[in-house]
Amino acid sequence: MRFQCPVCKGIVSVEDSEMGSSVQCGHCNKQVTVPSSRTASGSVIGDFIILHEIGRGGMGVVYLAHQISLDRPAALKILADNYARNSEFVVGFIKEARAAAKLNHPNIVQAYAVGDDDGIFYFAMEHDLSAREQDMLRLLLEQKTNSEIAGALFISENTVKFHIHNLLQKTGCKNRKELISYYSVYFTD
Ligand SMILES: [Zn+2]
Repeated sequence: MRFQCPVCKGIVSVEDSEMGSSVQCGHCNKQVTVPSSRTASGSVIGDFIILHEIGRGGMGVVYLAHQISLDRPAALKILADNYARNSEFVVGFIKEARAAAKLNHPNIVQAYAVGDDDGIFYFAMEHDLSAREQDMLRLLLEQKTNSEIAGALFISENTVKFHIHNLLQKTGCKNRKELISYYSVYFTD
């Protein structure tokens, strides 16, 4: 498996048997803990670093992720184990992803990638945040208060609260602090 070093942000390859244990990062030489599973926070699947779970359905789990090559947020859908072992489902999953990638419309979430990383089938797509929500997120990351955000975006404080509520729902974060800690990965490095 591969994971992102929490110290230097380099990508490290280890044996699957080393999950959850402490290893020395080959980039910065610091002792770091390997994520406890292939889909735990910090694990790398294809071109994507998993940040945290944002949704769960019958066929799999959706994670908030970060695309390494293009340095952008993404939603990463991972096919559940029992389906990943069923070739019919895998073919359907890839077909669905390819069909989605052909659609190009401002109101439709854009497909980024589909693939198989050592038995883990994934489908990456645009993370569905509106332009207003992205503005809001940047201001939150700058530690602005609700009234400062309202002033910067020329909206009422109630509208700010409304957008923050939607952001928490879309990202599955419990509160503002958690939201800021997850998203700071996108904007700080
Ligand atoms: Zn490191």
